[in-house]
Amino acid sequence: MPTIDDRFAAAAPLPPRLPRLHDLATDLWWSWDTRARAMFRHLDTSLWHQTSHNPVRMLQRMSAARLQAAAQDPAFLAMYDEAVRARDSECELTHPWWAEHGRTLKGGTVAYFSAEFALHPSLPIYAGGLGVLAGDHCKEASALGVPLVGIGFMYPQGYFHQRMSPTGWQEERYERLTWTEAPIAAAFTPDGRACTVQVPLGDRTVHAAVWCVRLARVRLYLLDTDVPENAPWDRELSARLYGGDRDTRLQQEAVLGVGGVLALRALGVSPTVWHLNEGHAGFVIFERLRECRDRGDSFDDALADVRAHTVFTTHTPVAAGHDAFAFAQVERSLASCWRDRDGDREHFLALGAYDNGHGPQFNMTALAMRGAAHINGVSQLHGAVTRDMWAPLWPDTPASARPVRAITNGVHVPTWLATPISELITRYAGAGWLDRNDDSAIWDALLEIPDGELWAARTRQRHDLFAFIRERLRSRWVDDHVTPNRIVAAGAMLDPDVLTIGYARRFTAYKRPELIFHDAERLARLVTRIGRPVQIVFAGKAHPADEPAKHHLQRVFQHCLDPTFGGRIAFIDDYDMLVARYLVHGCDVWLNNPRKPLEASGTSGMKAAMNGVPHLSIGDGWWAEGYTGDNGWLISAATDPSDQTATDAADADALYMLLETDVVPRFYAREPDGTPRDWLRVVRQAMRTSLVRFSTRRMLKQYVVEMYGPASSAPVQ
Ligand SMILES: *Cc1c(COP(=O)(O)O)cnc(C)c1O
Repeated sequence: MPTIDDRFAAAAPLPPRLPRLHDLATDLWWSWDTRARAMFRHLDTSLWHQTSHNPVRMLQRMSAARLQAAAQDPAFLAMYDEAVRARDSECELTHPWWAEHGRTLKGGTVAYFSAEFALHPSLPIYAGGLGVLAGDHCKEASALGVPLVGIGFMYPQGYFHQRMSPTGWQEERYERLTWTEAPIAAAFTPDGRACTVQVPLGDRTVHAAVWCVRLARVRLYLLDTDVPENAPWDRELSARLYGGDRDTRLQQEAVLGVGGVLALRALGVSPTVWHLNEGHAGFVIFERLRECRDRGDSFDDALADVRAHTVFTTHTPVAAGHDAFAFAQVERSLASCWRDRDGDREHFLALGAYDNGHGPQFNMTALAMRGAAHINGVSQLHGAVTRDMWAPLWPDTPASARPVRAITNGVHVPTWLATPISELITRYAGAGWLDRNDDSAIWDALLEIPDGELWAARTRQRHDLFAFIRERLRSRWVDDHVTPNRIVAAGAMLDPDVLTIGYARRFTAYKRPELIFHDAERLARLVTRIGRPVQIVFAGKAHPADEPAKHHLQRVFQHCLDPTFGGRIAFIDDYDMLVARYLVHGCDVWLNNPRKPLEASGTSGMKAAMNGVPHLSIGDGWWAEGYTGDNGWLISAATDPSDQTATDAADADALYMLLETDVVPRFYAREPDGTPRDWLRVVRQAMRTSLVRFSTRRMLKQYVVEMYGPASSAPVQ
């Protein structure tokens, strides 16, 4: 496996004045620091674009002459020195909040397990919201200085890339990651060996290599079974995220849970808090019980110990989102956890027993809930829904006493805030405000920004979005030779000065992607009105196994081809972090219309709101607590939610009403200087409320105080 140095072995050597360039390029910290990004862009702007903003690839290709020139360019040197200084202070300075609250962790370390992490488009090891949340959590831990290590999977083929067939059927393509160009390196044990683990899986042993991703203070360790010691089918185990059949999924989860604990032990990391992000990582509990049993604890003592130090976050009220397996299947892969100790087989298997209406099965969420003393949902509403949904786990316990808290999700502000908005806030709130982004003093600074400046920033972001869409279209036209009508469906006729609604999320039935087409004639009138038209940009993938979702996607795509809508509805393929970034920066309104209460939180709306893109949403997930009356719009209709047909009709009507009577007129009502005063009032409130309340800064502080602190306080045995 390549180490950092191997990756640059064939590259031009660094000039003595720039010794830290490779170091900066291989620490993803650069990706959320505007100074570091500007530094790499300045180094060679065209190469920066050609390599899709991947500084590892860029430095591999740069000529010695070009590097020498940079070493003599005073403007570049100032940027370089500033980036080095900023990176070092991120790693070394104690954050004032941590100085005050760090004691609660008693010097311990948090191990954060997740099946996916979204960090940067150059590392495609995520599918969607769960991964973005995990990535944002780790980045924030670096800024606050929370001692945290992440554990996940290195999927050599990652998640699929989406292309659309001429009839709008989703095609899935997998690409192999080029290791040497990714920001990852082998992880080393304290005695200097490349770390590998041997995971017992049924009657065989699966080997996994361990990769390391650097995020300033935080390390992320990724398991990879694609190593020569493994049989071909075991090499494939970690090939793809959420690919394969049920048995592959179970074995992946065994490698993540059991292998993850083994990897931490081999790396010399001794966590005091074990945070399982979603049930996929539930087998951490099995492996830690095995450790306790091996050193002689009774099963009950072992379980009490493991529970006390385990934190579990559940992420969805949708039943299908909770993995469940046949007991025999679990036994086939994980029996080594209970060896042949009397009664242990029954005890271990009982931890996952749960009947969700299809007879008892081994349910990963039930395992995690029984194995963790600290449990939370991801919004206030989702906390309450979870207490109801899993009530059978706590028989005879009233809802208010069921041990599930709520910690509402947040997003990592430096990752998701557009540069024009960030610079604008800096002008009024002062440099360094990002590091105080949950300080309500920023509220007042936002009020001082003049309308003209705010509108200029918003307009620039919308124009950047359409430049991005156009270049993407050009590459589909040139490289994929798609037909002209598909270029129209992908946004060729969109106009950068028209009110733009964004709808981007995984395609799945409960999110109702087709709701806005409920009355096609009414929608057509809205989008094509002369003088104040509306355009809608869709994006999102359907899970490869979700047939109904693919049909929803196909119908949306066909609407994009329908001339009735005047070319004002478009679908952007291959939704990922990069597309998300442009959309949440550049749309005007962010639409979200799930079937309540199935959206546990949602985070794309938070990203949009802090960029001045107000939310237009059903009162589900974060919006149930985020809507204040003046920071966006609430789609609300009084119907019986069990009558889905009536609810869809009423929700669609409420959505059209809001668009017709408020959203559209407000956007197009302009002052003599061209600014939409009443519109900007909503924009400003959206930014103020989301920056402060829906950031990972606020979220992580809550995890530290409410979950990690108590989990660290239990005695470590
Ligand atoms: C933020 C994000 C999500 C999650 O957003 P939701 O509102 O939960 O759908 C999903 N995918 C990508 C690429 C994102 O950036």
